[in-house]
Amino acid sequence: MRTGVIRKSAAALRGAQGLADFEARGGAFRWEDVRARLEGLPGGGLNIAHEAVERHARGANASRIAFRFLRRDGTLTELDFARLSRLTNRYANVLRALGVGKGDRLFVLAGRIPELYVAVLGALKNGTVVSPLFSAFGPEPIATRIRLGAGSVLLTTASLYRRKVQGVRASLPGLRQVLVCGEGSEGIPGTIDLARSMDAASDEFEIPPTDPEDAALLHFTSGTTGTPKGAVHVHDAVLMHYMTGAVALDLHPDDVFWCTADPGWVTGTSYGILAPLLHGVTSLVDEADFDAERWYRILQDQRVSVWYTAPTAIRMLMKAGAQLRREYRFPALRFVASVGEPLNPEAVWWGAEVLGLPIHDNWWQTETGGILIANTAAMDIKPGSMGKPLPGIEAAIVHRRETGLDFVTAPGEEGELAIRRGWPSMFRGYLGEEERYRKCFAGDWYLTGDLARRDADGYYWFVGRADDVIKSAGHLIGPFEVESALMEHPAVAEAGVIGKPDETVGEVVKAFVSLKSGFEASEALRMELLGHARKRLGAAVAPKEIAFVASLPRTRSGKIMRRLLKARELGLPEGDTSTLESS
Ligand code: ATP
Ligand code: MG
Repeated sequence: MRTGVIRKSAAALRGAQGLADFEARGGAFRWEDVRARLEGLPGGGLNIAHEAVERHARGANASRIAFRFLRRDGTLTELDFARLSRLTNRYANVLRALGVGKGDRLFVLAGRIPELYVAVLGALKNGTVVSPLFSAFGPEPIATRIRLGAGSVLLTTASLYRRKVQGVRASLPGLRQVLVCGEGSEGIPGTIDLARSMDAASDEFEIPPTDPEDAALLHFTSGTTGTPKGAVHVHDAVLMHYMTGAVALDLHPDDVFWCTADPGWVTGTSYGILAPLLHGVTSLVDEADFDAERWYRILQDQRVSVWYTAPTAIRMLMKAGAQLRREYRFPALRFVASVGEPLNPEAVWWGAEVLGLPIHDNWWQTETGGILIANTAAMDIKPGSMGKPLPGIEAAIVHRRETGLDFVTAPGEEGELAIRRGWPSMFRGYLGEEERYRKCFAGDWYLTGDLARRDADGYYWFVGRADDVIKSAGHLIGPFEVESALMEHPAVAEAGVIGKPDETVGEVVKAFVSLKSGFEASEALRMELLGHARKRLGAAVAPKEIAFVASLPRTRSGKIMRRLLKARELGLPEGDTSTLESS
């Protein structure tokens, strides 16, 4: 097992501090200083799309590439800020002509194609609330979300419309208009051809007055622990996208940034669309899904300098082996970050050793709208820790009590992660679930539902989701710790750990393990893994049972669904599986 801290070189720290000077202000951080770096609308107010697009399109960055779209077949389409401005103006005019206005809700159902990006930004310009859906959803999850979100207009492709929307359209009386794009989009009954409407629209558009508190985005959670919730975000969130783009992702003007998340998840919008634009940075968008060779080739050929990805992808690259990695060179790559799930220490070390760069884990949720806790470029990394709260973010470890919150002060003690309310991208509601929203708060504090601990240096360590924590013989066991220990064994590619009800000890720890290529499941290997875990974790925490599986059930955003492992183990109903990735 490797332990220790990954120290940053003096040069890395110097470079990072050049832009991340918010951090240098330490306790003096004020959100108003971030606001001052943005422009605001000419007549007052704040609109995300103005800051992300117009501010650059009318300035020195007009001809800088905003998006570089890599199509499935390898061809490229580039949009500079000036053109992005004109296209999003047209799109806003298309909406306006349809009678879609401020506060109305647009759903977007498409792969990672230019039309989606133009639609999101164009809708924001128009004051229309936008909710990008994941294109792999089936008809029911799509219809449920549009219904819940009271969507009045949908943008999709002709092919997705035929396959997924047409059949449920009758159940969506509130959905007044459907715009379709792509091949075969002309003449589909009940739809409007986007290309034709765009041609007819003007490319001049004046953003209407927008209040920072006006709703902007609607994002559904991943559904890891239950039915996905719809989180509402406002235009003021742009402060957070901007600040975290600088401090957590270390974006500099000449960067080529690649966020691998789909805009159907909050990461793919906050960071796959908005944060890089806010910094005038070129964003690479790959239409295709994960493929180890393709991804290494993209990092190399597109000269990606800042890469934001997820633990599941990193584990898949680890599984693909170091040999493949050696066939590529990444001289431009200088900063790698990860979000979505705990990043096992093994993965951070793999980054340092095999990729040549350590991976910076950061933590946030759909509800938080942006990164709150991070390993930044200007910090030494403690592998396995999610880092420290960013400027402007006050975090605490708490216990909920009848009488209020108990704040943990002792380093290393576990409790629920709480954030003091008031950061700009905090969600303003769960759609249709006021009571649930209210219950997320205790006084000034937002309760995240995640368990964590803080060490003496102020680094936060993820323990597990409150729902996943295992209670065994008086111990509270976080699945992440057990999974990370199993992953240290050379045969293990991935592990998912659950508590299985047991009469004597409450719950026993059971692990589901998938193996790296070249390893075979056997009784001998099972015994070896049980022994390895016991040595690393002690008998009280180590799994009592290990099952070998080909793969683990995960959400389409890449998170291990422990609740499904558990339901299947116990023969219970599987619950909402709308976000389950089909293998
Ligand atoms: P649902 O709320 O529907 O069950 P979800 O919580 O997975 O789904 P998201 O908002 O996409 O939906 O994910 C946020 C959660 O992901 C966090 O609460 C946390 O449990 C986990 N997470 C994200 N980043 C990290 C990280 N760096 N380390 C550990 N856990 C993380
Ligand atoms: Mg959640």
